[in-house]
Amino acid sequence: MTEHDILIVGGGLAGLAAALSADPALRVAVVSKVHPLRSHSVVAQGGINAALGNNPDGRDDSWEKHAFDTIKGSDYLADQDAAELLCRMAVPAILELDGWGAPFSRFPDGTIAQRPFGGAGFPRTCYAQDRTGLVLLHTLYEQCVRRGIAFYDEWLVTTLVVRDGRCLGLVAFDLGSGEVMPLRSRAVIFATGGYGRVFLRTTNAYINLGGGIGMAFRAGVPLKDMEFVQFHPTSLHGKNILISEAARGEGGYLVNNRGRRFMEDYAPKTMELAPRDILARAIQTEVDKGHGFADEYVHLDLRHLGKDKILKRLPGIRDICLNFLGLDPIDAPIPIQPAQHYSMGGIDVDVDCASPVEGFYAAGECACVSVHGANRLGGNSLLEAVVFGKIAGASASRYVKGGSPPAAAERAVDEESRRFRDRLAEIRRRDSGENVFGLFNRLKAVMSENAGIFRTEKPLGRAREEIRALRDAAPKAYIYGSIGKYCQELLILAEFGYMLDVAEAIVQGALLREETRGSHYRRDFPVRLDDHWLKHTIVAWTERGLETSYRPVKTDKYKPQERKY
Ligand SMILES: Cc1cc2nc3c(=O)[nH]c(=O)nc-3n(C[C@H](O)[C@H](O)[C@H](O)COP(=O)(O)OP(=O)(O)OC[C@H]3O[C@@H](n4cnc5c(N)ncnc54)[C@H](O)[C@@H]3O)c2cc1C
Repeated sequence: MTEHDILIVGGGLAGLAAALSADPALRVAVVSKVHPLRSHSVVAQGGINAALGNNPDGRDDSWEKHAFDTIKGSDYLADQDAAELLCRMAVPAILELDGWGAPFSRFPDGTIAQRPFGGAGFPRTCYAQDRTGLVLLHTLYEQCVRRGIAFYDEWLVTTLVVRDGRCLGLVAFDLGSGEVMPLRSRAVIFATGGYGRVFLRTTNAYINLGGGIGMAFRAGVPLKDMEFVQFHPTSLHGKNILISEAARGEGGYLVNNRGRRFMEDYAPKTMELAPRDILARAIQTEVDKGHGFADEYVHLDLRHLGKDKILKRLPGIRDICLNFLGLDPIDAPIPIQPAQHYSMGGIDVDVDCASPVEGFYAAGECACVSVHGANRLGGNSLLEAVVFGKIAGASASRYVKGGSPPAAAERAVDEESRRFRDRLAEIRRRDSGENVFGLFNRLKAVMSENAGIFRTEKPLGRAREEIRALRDAAPKAYIYGSIGKYCQELLILAEFGYMLDVAEAIVQGALLREETRGSHYRRDFPVRLDDHWLKHTIVAWTERGLETSYRPVKTDKYKPQERKY
């Protein structure tokens, strides 16, 4: 059996940042179900926040102002110590990336360029045109290769092995050879990304199923604030490919079918640069009022920016419009609609990225340290992945160096590997049943219809019933094709149970939270209720079902105020 000191699951920004900060004397490896450079981080477009103060309009910026914007943007649900840590670490993190050669766009004076983003008091989003994720991921991967970090590419992790509250390793499935791989490790870091594909309309890649979050949950790690799901205001109509906030940061207008910049009615001061929750609701409201186009979308107009600016600052956005709609934003407005985009909630960890299970850590989008609270600001997620990825690597290293190897790890990992092999054999023997994709599509439709931008009790209750019905159907799911190498149906089936856990945790949190805060909008409870609901939702898996409890939010510095933009 292969043995490691630290195994990192995920080759996106958080996973690679963790690998680079882990103690080089330890045996560290990264496991990823796709080649690391195909991780979802690669598509991030708009940028990464840090109060560098390079933009002439941002000279008075500071990490404290960045922290305040983040906390206000979170609708005061972020833990303030965590948000402060994120913003304090932002400037050195960007300088480190710059030092490693990340090709950031530059101002004429040679400093890293910064653009305005939603909910930010100053233009503090650093970028590389509209391909920021791509350049950052390549930069970190290059450093990992330079340092000889071991990679297990195209291995799907199926089980987190925990016994008596201690993490012992993993079970993985080599997609190329079809072999089940037992992996013993003294510490494990999950950096498995978001769960966007639990919804029908999402900007997320096909690989973002959320399995890592469900896996940790089933192994005894609670989930935090799962009801807070970010819907991005501007995805390409019908395709739901992201049209980055950078387009509005550079000056794009949102316009309804009457030719009006309707944000005047929703956020008169900040207009198109209001936070995403406010914008997504405004767009959906316009469409619902009959002020949209084809009852589905509004326009994002970039034409007044001019050809030169679009070609220089937003070339990727233009390519997306040309390739997927045959439309050139230099000459025509872009049809856009909101779509699921980001998971504020996730695996419950503290500011050291440590979970209640000894030796188990999480970082990046799969984790909830609680820096985004009820609504994330654009540009803060790449930052979170880099900053907390680094912290996770250092924390796991300290843990391994300070403790002794667990007893009986090999037996437990073997046991779980055998269990997965038996499950595979049983799946192969099935000769009828509902197709995996059928079940998957049912789940996505249920979530988008009932747990979307606007929520009420009855549809949420319906979603919970449907998810439970899917739980009954899932063990009989049938794979139509041959179960050979890289079998997509098998990959989805391996994570489907975990996706149901994620979906139920979202719906349960949303049903119970009878208020409106950030991205969680209850039509039947349309105001924020700090007296009762200024608290984190914690959901734990038990044999009897999901158990919910609450934890106070750390609000030591900034008193919650009404959010006005
Ligand atoms: C279109 C788009 C644009 C965005 N633009 C921005 C932006 O401009 N600025 C910003 O701040 N944020 C942006 N975001 C958000 C940001 O990109 C992500 O939150 C961030 O990149 C997540 O990084 P991560 O390392 O946590 O996860 P990911 O990059 O998603 O990596 C997850 C990794 O986990 C692996 N994995 C998952 N499950 C398993 C398993 N079971 N077994 C093995 N491996 C597994 C995957 O293979 C992958 O390597 C954007 C998001 C989208 C969807």
